[in-house]
Amino acid sequence: MRIVPAASGRGIVFRRTDLDGFEVEAVSRNVARVSYATSLMKKGVLISTTEHALSAFIGLGIDNAIVELDNLELPILDGSAKPFVEMIQKAGIRKQRKARKYLKIRRELEMREGNKSIGVYPASSYSVSYSINFPHPLIGKENFEVELTNGSYLRQIAAARTFGSREDEQAMRNMGLIRGASRENCIVLTRDGIENGPLRFSDEFVRHKVLDLVGDLALLGKQLLGKVVADRAGHAMHTALVSRLLRDKTLWEEVTASPEGDEHHAVPHRTEAAAGSW
Ligand SMILES: [Zn+2]
Repeated sequence: MRIVPAASGRGIVFRRTDLDGFEVEAVSRNVARVSYATSLMKKGVLISTTEHALSAFIGLGIDNAIVELDNLELPILDGSAKPFVEMIQKAGIRKQRKARKYLKIRRELEMREGNKSIGVYPASSYSVSYSINFPHPLIGKENFEVELTNGSYLRQIAAARTFGSREDEQAMRNMGLIRGASRENCIVLTRDGIENGPLRFSDEFVRHKVLDLVGDLALLGKQLLGKVVADRAGHAMHTALVSRLLRDKTLWEEVTASPEGDEHHAVPHRTEAAAGSW
């Protein structure tokens, strides 16, 4: 995997170097299949497991970049967004001249599915509140609330790893995902504990859900100004929220400056990742 700069307005684009540089934009209309991971597809070309890399781009405030891949799956690495963040930081970040566009929520949108729910509400910055209730002695009920500004993503979210049980792992392998899943690339749950401790945060599980949500909401194609509240949601609900939002333009407006935190720069600038490779 390699990250190269993109012109402003291009957004995040995946490029398959093994398929003559075919490009798949990281936008909602290309969402393909969503179960354990979020995948994109365009004209039959698949990009699998996009959420952790996209989460890193949003967390670092990157609007435009091309991610080159020589196969269909993004590397899982340690199961968090941290290695992607480090890769992008190493590549360097450059401001672009054009003003950044935000998708600012004007009216709330709520979706419910049994005891799962997700909603987005008007707010002057991007924040997330996530709740999970996972039947495992180490997890149970967890809630995490974070405003994704001033480096809080990097400090509190980026390093949270994905988790799963041995059964999940087998199911994922059967689906052709997470090649070579191991204790190095996810927290492996046993019946009453974990195989590969210690945790990076005592509530690492719910923090990873925030990480996934941020990555899936990147498919809006713009930085969000709004508060997202999720309860036991997952990739399918995250991406459904994105497509519902984009379909109903009365729910949001496009603005070119965030109303908060930009006092010193009336118009924030787009940034791009400079070239760097794994
Ligand atoms: Zn994840």
